[in-house]
Amino acid sequence: MWYTLPCPLWQGECTEYESRPHDCRTYQCKLLRNVTAGNVELDSALDIVSKTRSALDELVSQDRGVGLGASEGPSQVYMRLHKKLNGLKTGTDECRAFWRRYPAFLTLKFLLRRHFLS
Ligand code: SF4
Repeated sequence: MWYTLPCPLWQGECTEYESRPHDCRTYQCKLLRNVTAGNVELDSALDIVSKTRSALDELVSQDRGVGLGASEGPSQVYMRLHKKLNGLKTGTDECRAFWRRYPAFLTLKFLLRRHFLS
């Protein structure tokens, strides 16, 4: 099953947590699987989550005044910038300007790939 992200039910917290979809209920990110398997200590995992949230907060801060609408949450900011970056050709002035404007994007992307995705 495929979902659009960010999830429309996320409003700072899950608005349908008790009745969330099965796939959502059973999904385990890479970090959770590693904690469950004993490969990562809980304290380390919580530190990774904290660093990732800080990177997202920093990205939102870097974006402030550029496109953050009243209804746009942090994950929506990330997705919007992710789409924007995907539309840029590598090595162009526009692409370089993106990385100068959003240095936290690289940190966040690294943390997500290394600890949460796949
Ligand atoms: S827990 Fe699931 S349904 Fe709720 S906001 Fe997150 S992704 Fe959406």
